[in-house]
Amino acid sequence: MRYHEVIVVGGGLAGLRAAIAVNERNVSVAVLSKVHPLRSHTVAAQGGVNAPLGNHPRGHYDNWEKHAYDTIKGSDFLADQDAVIRMTREAAARILEMEHWGCPFSRTPEGKIAQRPFGGAGFPRTCYVADTTGHALLHTVYEQTVRFQQAAERKEMVLYPEWLITNLAVEGEECRGLVAMEMATGRLETFLAEAVIFATGGAGRLYGNSTNALINTGMGMAVPYWAGIPLKDMEFIQFHPTTLYGKNVLITEGARGEGGFLVNNKGERFLANYADSGKAMEVAPRDIISRNMTKEITEGRGFEGGYLHLDLRHLGREKILARLPGIREICLEFAGIDPIDEPIPVQPGQHYTMGGIDCTTECETRIKGFYAAGEAACVSVHGANRLGGNSLLETLVFGQIAGDRAAEYVQTKTQREQGKKALEETLARTEEKIKKTLNSTGKEHPSKIRDAMQDLMVKDVGIFRNGQGLKEASEGLRDLKERCRDIKINYKGRAWNQALVIALELEGSLDVAEAVVAGALAREESRGSHSRTDFSKRDDQNWLRHTLCFFTPEGPRLEYSEVRPGPFKIAERKY
Ligand SMILES: Cc1cc2nc3c(=O)[nH]c(=O)nc-3n(C[C@H](O)[C@H](O)[C@H](O)COP(=O)(O)OP(=O)(O)OC[C@H]3O[C@@H](n4cnc5c(N)ncnc54)[C@H](O)[C@@H]3O)c2cc1C
Repeated sequence: MRYHEVIVVGGGLAGLRAAIAVNERNVSVAVLSKVHPLRSHTVAAQGGVNAPLGNHPRGHYDNWEKHAYDTIKGSDFLADQDAVIRMTREAAARILEMEHWGCPFSRTPEGKIAQRPFGGAGFPRTCYVADTTGHALLHTVYEQTVRFQQAAERKEMVLYPEWLITNLAVEGEECRGLVAMEMATGRLETFLAEAVIFATGGAGRLYGNSTNALINTGMGMAVPYWAGIPLKDMEFIQFHPTTLYGKNVLITEGARGEGGFLVNNKGERFLANYADSGKAMEVAPRDIISRNMTKEITEGRGFEGGYLHLDLRHLGREKILARLPGIREICLEFAGIDPIDEPIPVQPGQHYTMGGIDCTTECETRIKGFYAAGEAACVSVHGANRLGGNSLLETLVFGQIAGDRAAEYVQTKTQREQGKKALEETLARTEEKIKKTLNSTGKEHPSKIRDAMQDLMVKDVGIFRNGQGLKEASEGLRDLKERCRDIKINYKGRAWNQALVIALELEGSLDVAEAVVAGALAREESRGSHSRTDFSKRDDQNWLRHTLCFFTPEGPRLEYSEVRPGPFKIAERKY
């Protein structure tokens, strides 16, 4: 049994920032991650991170109130206003911290951090590092973790790369630690802790057409869900308007922020024909653009096969090479086209999980000593639709808050190292499950069941949904769970057993997918990314509330909680 005062699960931006906050308070911390931290999905973030710095040379005045209102409006008023205010007030401080830690932000001519239009602001608010912002931020924070690891004056900070967390140990209403599998050996280990922070990222790979890394299976949300913590607002799944046709590699919103046009098969900038895209056109919120693109394609104004064009040619070679070099490389590598000379074929694809582990503005959950931050958490700052550039910000702001709160909790705890028995029991249960999975002699390959789930989610739980399709999805998921009873694993060894990992994660993915479908079926309105063709209006009277989904062996159970209002008024929706 290993012991660390705080255990952070997740080596992305939220997890590493949390670990630094813990260790800054001289509390020992371990970071567990199923991949090396630098392979976390954060590394793929392209376009940028929001902060109301107002640095743009044309001098757009900006402040946290404006940023907060844009975020709340973008969320279709489902975000909790106190959480949004907390985030936008701290945004500038977090960005300057990254600058001081050495993040190589792109610059304005006079040397300030450059900003681009992005994320529904309508003017430049998004700080960026060309089109590889996540890469730069994650490396910056990782460098700091190395510094902390080497600092002799503080308690230890330990990284455990390539460990898969399978279960939490909860005793009474308190978290005691967790059970994890070392993937290189397949050995299970118990980790005793005073507090645990989950920063396990999104669940994009519930869908086949996702921009997310293959590791974003949703398992990191399933583990606390199984332990009794509800998942909140899971029906809100963001579809990004521009992913590379057929491959779903992300083409950053920054490409439109820099001035790219979306064009249909008639050569029109079709967003001008829709009232809700408004004056913002290509930089309107993502839910709106994704819906309007889907309408263009289904009404026959797309290109054969179902895509539209993102045209960057008028930006010119120099700007494309300076601001969007990664996008050009993706187009050359994956589509064999050069956006300097040709338009990019794009289609919407799954991108972000607005919902997640239910927690407070202080990242606390209803289990004592268990905290959540980053994309895995639902604080809720994104409500029904996230603005581009706000999630990297969320990871930094709430990563730090989670770390601070966990460290404080540990420092005030009187009884320590409790719960060894609970951990041993969790270990025994997990070991039994792994043995059973390895010895299974059925006929279904887990990866085939996973593919069927991803197809089903794309078909019935996509940009547009309706009651009939959602019911079919719900039944389809139940059938898939049934098929899971009849799996086979060909390789029986424990070392690097990828089939075993897929089987273990699949169980989590299916349960989290059920939560998405249950929330979507119950929510009889359209709000943000949740667009029901059979209930096309937003219904504030009945549905201005959060969905809380609890795990039960019989299936998800729903409850609702109030959205926390604040100083910002709710506006009508433009249809
Ligand atoms: C292609 C792409 C581009 C994006 N661009 C932007 C952008 O420009 N601006 C913006 O604001 N946002 C962007 N986003 C969103 C943003 O990048 C993510 O929301 C954010 O980086 C998530 O960070 P995180 O720390 O919460 O999780 P992640 O970076 O996803 O890290 C999750 C961590 O949890 C670990 N983990 C998960 N489950 C387990 C388990 N069971 N056991 C052990 N470890 C586990 C993983 O190993 C990983 O280390 C983008 C997302 C994508 C996919």
